[in-house]
Amino acid sequence: MNCETCTNKMLSLDRGERLPLSAAFHLAHCDECLTTWRVMNGVYGELEKVVDSSEIDVCDAVMDSLPEDSRAKQGAGGVSLGVWILVGLGLVAVMFFTVLADFFVQARNSLGDVFLMPVSLVFGIGLSIYLVFFIVSHMSYLERLSQAAGALKR
Ligand SMILES: [Zn+2]
Repeated sequence: MNCETCTNKMLSLDRGERLPLSAAFHLAHCDECLTTWRVMNGVYGELEKVVDSSEIDVCDAVMDSLPEDSRAKQGAGGVSLGVWILVGLGLVAVMFFTVLADFFVQARNSLGDVFLMPVSLVFGIGLSIYLVFFIVSHMSYLERLSQAAGALKR
């Protein structure tokens, strides 16, 4: 049996129906099809859970469907939202105090408004980098939020 036949067999199964022995044998030595099989079973399980549960449980079902390691990352290794907000506020505070600082006022007086241009650029780039890092590091979180929202709409 090749991968295509095996996949077709898996797709043609009814819910709860057993995989034919020939397909099961193929899974035993084909990682790719085994992964497909596991994903399919996972999706069936999640669909059942979502259908069975009330709306409030949908978020839990979505959480449960995430791989174990991505959840662990969010909890232990991931920087919490509070820290990110603090860093963001710090960044704004640094910019604010820089503009008020003596050396800045002096430089502006001697160089004129031309001096503001590169400073604004540096601030702008700094904020952009911060935002990019924020979005990238919260990608899975934001994704999960939209998934949960989508699940609630259905
Ligand atoms: Zn295969």
